[in-house]
Amino acid sequence: MARILFVEDEQALLDTVERFFKKQGFDVFTARGITQALEHHKRFKPDVVVLDVMLNEGPEPDSDGFQVCRALRDADYEGPVIFVTARTAEQDKLLGFDLGADDYVTKPFSLLELKARVAAVLRRAGGARSVYRFGTIEVDLDNYVIRHPDAEERLSNREQELLRYLIEHRGKVLPRADLLTGIWRYSPNVTTRTVDTHILNVRKKLRDDASNPRFIETLHGVGYRFIANEG
Ligand code: CA
Repeated sequence: MARILFVEDEQALLDTVERFFKKQGFDVFTARGITQALEHHKRFKPDVVVLDVMLNEGPEPDSDGFQVCRALRDADYEGPVIFVTARTAEQDKLLGFDLGADDYVTKPFSLLELKARVAAVLRRAGGARSVYRFGTIEVDLDNYVIRHPDAEERLSNREQELLRYLIEHRGKVLPRADLLTGIWRYSPNVTTRTVDTHILNVRKKLRDDASNPRFIETLHGVGYRFIANEG
């Protein structure tokens, strides 16, 4: 059973999330600030931490999720971290940080979305599943290769990460900004154009047709969606 630590200053939200994740079979620990978060880390060794950025209503109103993340890393927490942000300046701030965050969700989020993100980072942390078959095409992420019946296409590191992200979030509309943060991890000097270029390359290697896609659908002005089903 996975152990999950939530850090959030709003008690009501903490209660909702706790109830939901307990029902989903997680061991849930909650903290409203940095001290409690560190105590839980030391005692219970969580597998994944979900950190709200704004903690100003908690017992330590001067601290924020970034500080909690840093403190946990200093205390040798090495597992995945998911940030929860409001879609405002916090998100820009997140872009400037390099804290080894694995993903982020923006408020308001659905509990099912959060669960999917948690499951995905846990899969990755525990050695993610990495071979997928779509019709006659095999996507082998371990070996950075797409196998067609007649040829193989090699994937670069970024292409492999991008494809993994798309497949793990399949069926979901992924804004380009989310792909940027999810894959390029807040690297400076990377723009959404980089995302488009990589999508183009991955699409070519999948032999997908942008105007009649089987794998990656473009939602103009929004982002992309992986639409293929396995089998
Ligand atoms: Ca908060």
